Amino acid sequence: MQDVNSGNIQRLEAMITEARKISIVTHQKPDGDAMGSSIALYHFLRMYGKDSVRIILNDRFPSYLDFLTSDISETDLIFFQEMPDTAEILIRDSDLIFCLDFNAFHRTDRIEPALSDSKAEKILIDHHLNPDRNAFSLSFSETEISSASELLYQILIRTEKIGMDATLLPPASAVALMTGMTTDTNNFANSTYPSTFLMASDLLAAGVDRNAILSHLYNQYGENRLRLMGHMMKDLLTITEDGVAYIVLDRSTQKAYKIAEGDTEGFVNMPLSIADVRMSILAKEDDEKIRISIRSRIGTSANGCARAYFNGGGHENAAGGRLCIPEDVPGVEAVAEYIERQTHIYLNQENENN
Ligand code: 5GP
Ligand code: MN
Repeated sequence: MQDVNSGNIQRLEAMITEARKISIVTHQKPDGDAMGSSIALYHFLRMYGKDSVRIILNDRFPSYLDFLTSDISETDLIFFQEMPDTAEILIRDSDLIFCLDFNAFHRTDRIEPALSDSKAEKILIDHHLNPDRNAFSLSFSETEISSASELLYQILIRTEKIGMDATLLPPASAVALMTGMTTDTNNFANSTYPSTFLMASDLLAAGVDRNAILSHLYNQYGENRLRLMGHMMKDLLTITEDGVAYIVLDRSTQKAYKIAEGDTEGFVNMPLSIADVRMSILAKEDDEKIRISIRSRIGTSANGCARAYFNGGGHENAAGGRLCIPEDVPGVEAVAEYIERQTHIYLNQENENN
């Protein structure tokens, strides 16, 4: 963890001390790690004595994360899509902006212009490949770590305020950090490091109720989600000769199963349990675009494929992107062919390079 050094931690604390109005932003379609890290930082900054701290989200988060925000006032949690003018003013007036769990401004979608224009000091805390370091006054960017939540944990415990004693973290921060790490590792299944287990151990010792978190995250879905999963795995899954498993989920199917944001979380990982599958792709029809999730086995790069053919990126074995209509595909009915053709090209190039 090169960026997590005492010089950078001191700079961070000096910037926090000086700041009066602080904003926290994260990527669009915020997931558990985006929300966990943002909320953990919010409570830390409040404990630090900062009374003007706003979390500005592009759009709503899945309802299984509601438990994280129950003690945050409505005025401190702003959704850009719903209150663009308020959100823009808040960003413009901030003197410090934390950017969590994303590597480039465009990942914040509609917040991007305000973020680029803002004269505030910006601090990056992120674990994705290819960070845009030039855009930040201070960058904490580590890829050999489970999650942005773990990276934030490693930073916060080294501050003078916490002094390596996790019991001094605000309890709500501890819960949020454990939550973000849990969702980004798929409950300790991927991207775990020795530091990840040490963090979990220290947070448990500090009083975090992991059973309660797991219950919120994994055991509060509606029946519709399990029915959809059955349909997707039985009827919609295709496996190509290259070992690419893919599913195209069109809007009418999402509607038929009354699917809400977050309901398909985790499905893209499932085909990787098949021995012959090296890469799994979920293509989900959204407004005027197709959202892509990619997972790969070690030795095949989900990030490379997302960057090359799906206007995206992410981590080596977990990445995402989008197909635009009509630039990339004429419509959802053409997505299956696109995936088969481009992954065939990509995997054969990858074979040649290895
Ligand atoms: P998911 O499939 O869970 O939506 O995303 C997997 C990972 O890839 C996440 O870490 C996410 O932040 C990243 N990711 C998803 N979409 C994009 C994208 O469009 N661009 C980049 N650079 N990363 C993405
Ligand atoms: Mn993350």
